[in-house]
Amino acid sequence: MPDSKQNIPATRPLKDPFGRSITYLRLSVTDRCDLRCRYCMAENMVFLPKPDVLTLEEMLGLSRAFMERGVRRIRLTGGEPLVRKGIIWLINALGDEVKRGNLDELTLTTNGTQLPHMAEDLARAGVKRINVSLDTLDADLFSEITRRNRLADVLNGIKAAKAAGLQVKINTVALKGQNETELPALLDWCIGEGLDLTLIETMPLGDVADAREDQYLPLTDVLPKLLKKHNLSPSGHRTGGPARYFNIEGTTSRLGLITPLTGNFCEGCNRVRVTCTGRIYMCLGQDDHVDLRAAIRSDNPQVNLNTALDKAIGIKPKGHDFAMKGDQMVGKVGRHMSQTGG
Ligand code: SAM
Ligand code: SF4
Repeated sequence: MPDSKQNIPATRPLKDPFGRSITYLRLSVTDRCDLRCRYCMAENMVFLPKPDVLTLEEMLGLSRAFMERGVRRIRLTGGEPLVRKGIIWLINALGDEVKRGNLDELTLTTNGTQLPHMAEDLARAGVKRINVSLDTLDADLFSEITRRNRLADVLNGIKAAKAAGLQVKINTVALKGQNETELPALLDWCIGEGLDLTLIETMPLGDVADAREDQYLPLTDVLPKLLKKHNLSPSGHRTGGPARYFNIEGTTSRLGLITPLTGNFCEGCNRVRVTCTGRIYMCLGQDDHVDLRAAIRSDNPQVNLNTALDKAIGIKPKGHDFAMKGDQMVGKVGRHMSQTGG
């Protein structure tokens, strides 16, 4: 594994068979979570045995190996990344890589519940912006969607993050018959708070209690309702992710749309995902993966890991197969989002 004290030169950059450079790693640090969002998890999830999960030291070594192959941005996710014990150690270590110039950015996607007591630590580590997932401002609906009564913690968490100087973007999954009518008000709330909002179409990942088709709300149905009140113009803003952004006239906020079902976004895909057990998935919507943990825990980790990365990158597919065929959602994969890392 690369030495932590040195600048990491990008040797043999990761380029997939379609010529896309892989510069972005989403690393899931745990499959556990303190919420149970209905579109993400089943009621009784069976979590992974601890020995299967990479240690934080292994995750740091793995991250450095990716940096050596040209990764410039890392997003920590999960499960809920901030419930992983000792996570601040990893965040500090990756923050140091940003300070050394080995990474352009370290970010997180979080449900926000732990932010009241962790936001300052994140800012101190060098994290500049985070995504907070929030599907509703209604306490009862929040409890219904997440199966936990934690809205107040999330709102306090957002406040704490802003106070610590973190830039916060809200991620909201658009859910038919649930937050559907509230989305215009949620956008207004984000504008009032000076936050960007990204709306996401629900994807068919893993079995959950409700039928996916019953949850699915196409953003093509939502947009006209938002346009009734706001003038939106396409924005050149890019975060390296799949969102298309719009400026909202007269505000500092932006609206992002992630439309895996109504608009395929795979063409410019620059990312791979690594699960907390060290499996690399080249696409959220495909099952092909390579086991990096075996390489890391082998006698010759550096060589074996690079060989495994070459193999993985060589099978990155062109895109996912999520789609609506009539009233059926197709292209489903068996893993839950909390396992792959959202
Ligand atoms: N626990 C953190 C959180 O909720 O932000 C990080 C992990 S979570 C899996 C990452 C993102 O995936 C969240 O914004 C969540 O709303 C989204 N997500 C989970 N399951 C999804 C699904 N089936 N379709 C679309 N988005 C989903
Ligand atoms: Fe937990 Fe995030 Fe999944 Fe909700 S979306 S259950 S907060 S991992």
